[in-house]
Amino acid sequence: MSMHEQFADDLALYALGALQGRERAELQAHLTQCAACRRELQHLCGDMGLLGLATMGPAPPPAARNRLLSALAKEPRLPMVRKEARRWWLMAPATAAIVLAVVSVLFWRQNNALRRDLAQQLTQSRQNQAEVERAREVLALLSAPDAMRVTLVATNAKPQPQGKAIYRPQTGSLVFLASNFAPLPPKKAYELWMLPTSGAPPIPVGVFKPDARGSASVLMPPLPKELEAKAFAITIEPETGSLTPTMPIMLAGGQ
Ligand SMILES: [Zn+2]
Repeated sequence: MSMHEQFADDLALYALGALQGRERAELQAHLTQCAACRRELQHLCGDMGLLGLATMGPAPPPAARNRLLSALAKEPRLPMVRKEARRWWLMAPATAAIVLAVVSVLFWRQNNALRRDLAQQLTQSRQNQAEVERAREVLALLSAPDAMRVTLVATNAKPQPQGKAIYRPQTGSLVFLASNFAPLPPKKAYELWMLPTSGAPPIPVGVFKPDARGSASVLMPPLPKELEAKAFAITIEPETGSLTPTMPIMLAGGQ
């Protein structure tokens, strides 16, 4: 059984607004991907609309109308209530046809809007997913111990210890990459500090130990948002980190 056959009956129910729950959701998901079923649904909705209009029909020819009226006049007089009921009853098919036609059109529009919404949401969620995936890849690369790390320097210069901090105060996001750092004595670590523009005491950002090649990174440590920094600095501290920097400052940089 192909997908389309599976949905054939559902399409008619859906067009009538009678499809509910999981089946409805499944069909809607299928509709966003299947032009054939969308066309079929459009035809079904169109048929319903035409059906409603056809039942309303053109006005009956005057002769027929007169015959009907005189036939009614010849009927024995009936109590008022009965007469009112009769008139209402004569009106009913036309009213029902109008309601059906209006409902069909509304339904067709609603379906179109729904399909557009669904398609938009799918596109949006695919984009979000792609962004998250990319962010994950960037973080994985930055923190991968087996990634190749190369510091490029002037050809006649000896590689020097170097740290690069990328910081965004608005979101409190920070990435720090270190290269060519000297090995540390046991139980010691480097600690990165942020110096706030406000002149407040240095904020500990994170401790790190360089690998055998002198590389290290501090990725997205927890930091307050909206905190402007004027500089960053690195000291050597006990490996558990300190709350205030221990002199001397090994590396420093600011804007
Ligand atoms: Zn289909």
